[in-house]
Amino acid sequence: MAEFDLIERIRSRCEIARNDVRLGIGDDAAILAPPPGHELVVCTDTLVAGVHFPLDTPAEAIGWKALAVNLSDLAAMGATPAWALLALTLPEADADFVDRFASGFAALAAQHHVALVGGDTTSGPLTITVTVHGFVPPGQALRRDGARVGDQVFVTGTLGDAAAALVARRRHTPASQREALDVRLDRPEPRLACGAALRGQATACIDVSDGLLADLRHVAARSGVGIEIDAAALPASPALLGAFDGDERLALQLGGGDDYELAFTAAPALAGDLLRDLARIGCGATRIGRVVDGEGVQAFDATGAAVTLARGGWEHFA
Ligand code: ADP
Ligand code: MG
Repeated sequence: MAEFDLIERIRSRCEIARNDVRLGIGDDAAILAPPPGHELVVCTDTLVAGVHFPLDTPAEAIGWKALAVNLSDLAAMGATPAWALLALTLPEADADFVDRFASGFAALAAQHHVALVGGDTTSGPLTITVTVHGFVPPGQALRRDGARVGDQVFVTGTLGDAAAALVARRRHTPASQREALDVRLDRPEPRLACGAALRGQATACIDVSDGLLADLRHVAARSGVGIEIDAAALPASPALLGAFDGDERLALQLGGGDDYELAFTAAPALAGDLLRDLARIGCGATRIGRVVDGEGVQAFDATGAAVTLARGGWEHFA
């Protein structure tokens, strides 16, 4: 199968009409017309087979996830997505794989009205790099560096499911019990509506891709503050509650990656309205902690004892 045929298979499955795309796939480069008076928000993320997703991940899920992880970064900035580029490195010119990959990518792109405007197709170990572009009103992007002492800390949705799916697979948990967890790993839902609703309300925001504590550490460092987390307040899905207990569940919520939820900070006076606004657009969020003087991120259990990661698991100490 020629490279051109592969590109055509991708293009035909990802057709989204946007009138800000003056020229899409097919020339040396795309020509795009950003809306006047907006700032352009751009990011890129690479997925490597066997590193960022298990080798047996369905092709549709790989396509979905490659776009989802990028849209999640735009969500964390409060941006509205518009355009994507896809650099695809394939071990072989496998038309069936490309069709299924493109269908998964296209399904999520259609949900958020994202046009695929170009890319590159090369031969090598399966690797997918997606670049996305979005818009924000000037000065309104959400950043990591705005958290202030006294702010409260929130997270959308629930934590730990994607990491739990990987553990459940290793343990050969029956597929029927893993289903809800697998969906969170394979088809994360980027919180774009939520990110947009947080513009002008949240003081800082980040998407949870490496694990809640690791990601909040970036917020703390960039904002020059400390963050305290109430471990008992961390939201869990019914699937996680059913499959994991105690410290094991806590470790997945605090340290597991691939959640693609938004963690954000806001002034206490805004919190009530903000949670109501989010609920109205179908995005649940939970208060999980506070911003304090100092540095770093520390979680506490229900007794007020600090919770810390020791070799082999999480450890509570007074
Ligand atoms: P060039 O040789 O000028 O770099 P290519 O032959 O690589 O162009 O690509 C031809 C067209 O197809 C370009 O518009 C490019 O953006 C697009 N394209 C190539 N690969 C992909 C892909 N994987 N997904 C989307 N568009 C692609
Ligand atoms: Mg060229």
